[in-house]
Amino acid sequence: MRTPIKPKEISHILNELGEDRTKYYNAAAVPLMQNSIFTFDTIEDLRCGLNAQDSTCVYSRGKNPTNSILQAKLAALERTEECLLFASGMAAISAAVMSEVRSGDHVICMDQTYYPAVKLLKQYLVRFNIEYTLVDGKDLAAIKAAIQPNTRVIYLESPTSFLFDLQDLEAVANIAKEHGITTIIDNTFATSLYQRPAELGIDIVIHSATKYLGGCSDLMGGALCTDSVRCKNIFDGEFMTLGGIMPPFHAWLILRSLRTLPIRLKQHGSTAQYLCERLEKHPKIERVYYPFLKSHPQYELAKKQMEGATGLFSFDVKADDEQGIHRFCNSLKCFMRAISWGGYESLVVPFCVNIPEGTDYDNPAFSWKLVRVHAGLEDPNYLLEDIEQALEKV
Ligand SMILES: *Cc1c(COP(=O)(O)O)cnc(C)c1O
Repeated sequence: MRTPIKPKEISHILNELGEDRTKYYNAAAVPLMQNSIFTFDTIEDLRCGLNAQDSTCVYSRGKNPTNSILQAKLAALERTEECLLFASGMAAISAAVMSEVRSGDHVICMDQTYYPAVKLLKQYLVRFNIEYTLVDGKDLAAIKAAIQPNTRVIYLESPTSFLFDLQDLEAVANIAKEHGITTIIDNTFATSLYQRPAELGIDIVIHSATKYLGGCSDLMGGALCTDSVRCKNIFDGEFMTLGGIMPPFHAWLILRSLRTLPIRLKQHGSTAQYLCERLEKHPKIERVYYPFLKSHPQYELAKKQMEGATGLFSFDVKADDEQGIHRFCNSLKCFMRAISWGGYESLVVPFCVNIPEGTDYDNPAFSWKLVRVHAGLEDPNYLLEDIEQALEKV
């Protein structure tokens, strides 16, 4: 059941949990343990360490003290037993999916999922005889209908990061449990502060730490939060074997960024809400996509399973052709033209950059007029005025 996370609890997790300053000269900030190896007094001790690499610092592909502090905090925020850190969000996603499937299994994946995750199924896991079905995640009946006797995983992303479609997480988790299927969710957009899927029954929760957890567009990282049994299994398997672990320096940078996560998210979210509400009324804009808009078809579900939304949103621009979209994006002065999101800066990316030039594009789900914006930490009116002047160039 969903229980709101109280500001006091968040403060404790971000400022105290997992830290023991007496171990490092009472330094206020967390130390960076930039070590590949840890030493032992005797060979007997080394042997014990090697047999328990998930709980003993032996080699940083296993446990590292700086990473351990971050793992404790992220698991507590997500309300899961444990957390593992990876070199990127994709490394975490790949480890999660691969830990659950065997040759001959089947995966159900939402059709608006972050494309590299779809590619893992479409181009990579098919080589190992793993089938997949893409379904419309808004449609519970479609998810149910896609279940086969060999379905092992339902892979979710809610909200999705271009059209902000939601899945009813509690309902999907219940269906999955009836069939013994593992549920995995990409929770990057909402973060653990605004959505904790494990409380709704989801088994594995993934984050791209490259986005809000890092928050400064200066690192890549991923996190996987789950129960201790799955965590141990993934640690011994994909984590240690594929080896895509997070460098301690990145964990240290994320620990710095976490201290400001609540205030950053509040600002990103309120600016996005303000811009969305203003842009909905703008004559040059057809439609705005953001889960906490009353016009969002799943607004009630958003309020039910999320405590807030962050800085990413999209809109369809009233343009006659793709050049109009280019002119709008190129005229923005305060938004940088770049992929990704989650840093302090505002960004813009039109969906049409993904469409090869000269192709006859016809996909009713994604309009070629779609533009995605990340609202950074700048003044909301500074950003609004910039969008308004650029809309005149469409
Ligand atoms: C960026 C992103 C990822 C992948 O994370 P990386 O750190 O780039 O590997 C996964 N899911 C979503 C929704 C993302 O935006």
